[in-house]
Amino acid sequence: MLELNVKKPFEIELREIESIETPKKNEVKIRVSYGGICGSDLSLFKGKFAHGKYPVRPGHELVGTIIECGEQSNYEVGTRVVILPNTYCGECEMCRNGRTNICRNKKSLGINMDGGFSEEFVISTKLILPIPDDLPDEKAVLIEPFAVVVSGFNKISIKKGQTVAVVGSGSIGMLAAALAAHLGANVTAIDINSKKLEMVKRVGDIRTVHPQEITDEDKFDIVIEAAGVKSSVEQAFQLIKPGGSMLAIGLAPEVTIPFTQFVRNDQSIHGTITYNFPDDYLKTIDYLRNPDLNVAPIVSKVVPLTDYQEAYDNALSGDFGKILLKF
Ligand SMILES: [Zn+2]
Ligand SMILES: [Zn+2]
Repeated sequence: MLELNVKKPFEIELREIESIETPKKNEVKIRVSYGGICGSDLSLFKGKFAHGKYPVRPGHELVGTIIECGEQSNYEVGTRVVILPNTYCGECEMCRNGRTNICRNKKSLGINMDGGFSEEFVISTKLILPIPDDLPDEKAVLIEPFAVVVSGFNKISIKKGQTVAVVGSGSIGMLAAALAAHLGANVTAIDINSKKLEMVKRVGDIRTVHPQEITDEDKFDIVIEAAGVKSSVEQAFQLIKPGGSMLAIGLAPEVTIPFTQFVRNDQSIHGTITYNFPDDYLKTIDYLRNPDLNVAPIVSKVVPLTDYQEAYDNALSGDFGKILLKF
């Protein structure tokens, strides 16, 4: 069986491993069909995570089919599932309040425990969710990243006709732009990369601008920050209308914000991380089943696992939307 292995930062290999564990009690074995390469896979590859562990099998945006069940698993062979890549203990204060996304004992697949960029892997049934028959695998693989956006949107209420700016047109930014447009907002996408701006136009009726073209007149009811770079977060603050709000998804280490202006203008900022399982996943599946919501253009390429090097190089170039590995 083939699997990817990040030995240490900047060293990734595809290797053949002999055998794979059999699923115990409440575990199942998954045959992976698609895996999406995420910004966090690239951060792990570049050694940017303090909590990253090496060597590690990367990959957390995963869809596949159950091929073997532990005796207490209550699932059937042949069931197609999506993976929840963040563990939760179910016992800490956050979990008890339904906030599994900020579980104090959380571990992340593909970051500080083995992920699923492999032909097969074994996982607890606590971390899988069956997907409906009418949702093909190549679309279902977007559930995990899209759930990040859907979960964040729980904190802001986008109404028809509102103005929304999306800063950053990576996969998350494009998904946010698609959803905001779907909900009836007038969406402006901002990115330094013109290729990304061309891509985001395909998910809806979206105005696109380069950050340098932003004027003082550009103010928005809601600003969604999905670039996670100091300068972009700082610009995002300047784009919020008085009384408006910001949804912060991107992870910029440190920023300087105009605090007095922020308070005087009665603005709010909502930080958001991942999603709550299974609610946000179920909501995301409903969105993905809706033919009016066009997220297909977000996928730039589907690459066979054996061409992982090309897939990683493309993803690292920053010129592509979502790149999928096909197993
Ligand atoms: Zn991800
Ligand atoms: Zn917990």
